[in-house]
Parts: sequence; structure tokens; C-alpha cells
Amino acid sequence: MKVLLTHDAIQARIHEMGREIARDYAGRDPHLVGVLKGACTFMTDLAQAVDLPLTLDYIAVSSYGAATKSSGEVKLVKDLDQGLEGRDLLVVEDIVDTGLTLNYLLNVLKARGPRTLKVAALLSKPSRRLVEVRVDYIGFSIEDHFVVGYGLDYNEKYRNLKDIVIYGAD
Ligand code: IMP
Repeated sequence: MKVLLTHDAIQARIHEMGREIARDYAGRDPHLVGVLKGACTFMTDLAQAVDLPLTLDYIAVSSYGAATKSSGEVKLVKDLDQGLEGRDLLVVEDIVDTGLTLNYLLNVLKARGPRTLKVAALLSKPSRRLVEVRVDYIGFSIEDHFVVGYGLDYNEKYRNLKDIVIYGAD
């Protein structure tokens, strides 16, 4: 498998993102909501890079399953522990591909009355979008490759790789 983004490059970019988020939310206590399981690794590193008194929660939605193509069907699998009323909500995603998952999630979360709602995604594949969704903080925009590692899986495997690699590439 070919390395697309090294662990060091990922860490460097996350530190920049963290500083930008800390600047934008200065004086606030943002509530970060990570989308399980893929965003787990990114969420941990990003939260540490934001020097603010933030809080964390997690939500899980169904995603690809065994195939590398989106089914288009998105279901809420695990809900949040805390309410969102009046909070500065920052949704933390691993990758925005077609945008269907994020679009669904944002509609669900908006209805819960956060004061503000923004999105941070480590990766974005703009050429794959089926719905338009706003992503406020993007780590890296990438070409249409299926990637694994740093939390991202294929059939639940490879999440523990330190780098982000192109699945199937020599
Ligand atoms: P979307 O709904 O098509 O935007 O897909 C979002 C979800 O699909 C992500 O949160 C990932 O779980 C998964 N996904 C999309 N592209 C990839 C990839 O290249 N590798 C691993 N998972 C992916």
C-alpha cells in the first residue's frame, strides 16, 4: 500500500488546525462531537491541539460496511451523551466523501439547538460530493482514492496504521 500522508505530516497539519480553531473560538468552550469510529484518532489529536477548555462527546452512524462504495443509507447507531442546547458545536469527521453522512448528521444536530455549528474534517474528497456540505476546517483535500489508516478502515481493518495509505496501491 502506498503512503499518501505520513504520520508526521498529519500531526503538523492537525497542530495548525488546532491553532486556527483555538483562535476562532477564543473565549468560548467548544463542544467537539467525534463521529465514530473513523474520527476517533483524529479527534484525540485535534482536541489536544486546541488550547481551550473544550468538552468531548461521540456519535456513531452507519457507514460503508464491507464495500468501498457508499450505500447512501445513513443511520444513527449511537447517540450523544450530552445535550447541545446553546453549545458551540464542532463536528469532527475523518473524511467527507459523498457528503451524505455529514449532511444527515448536521440536520439531526442542528435540530438540537446549538448556538453555533461547524465542521472539522481531516480529509475531503471534493470530486466525490453528491450533496453540498460546508466543511469549515479541512486537513487535506485528496483525490478520489480509497484510503485507510489513522482511524480509517476497510472492513474494520487498518485503523491502527500510523500513516494514511491508499488501499490497494502497490
Ligand atoms: P460520505 O457519506 O460518502 O461522505 O462518507 C463518509 C464516511 O465514509 C466516512 O466517515 C468514512 O467512514 C467512510 N469513507 C469514505 N471514504 C473513505 C475512504 O477513502 N476510506 C475509508 N473510509 C471512507
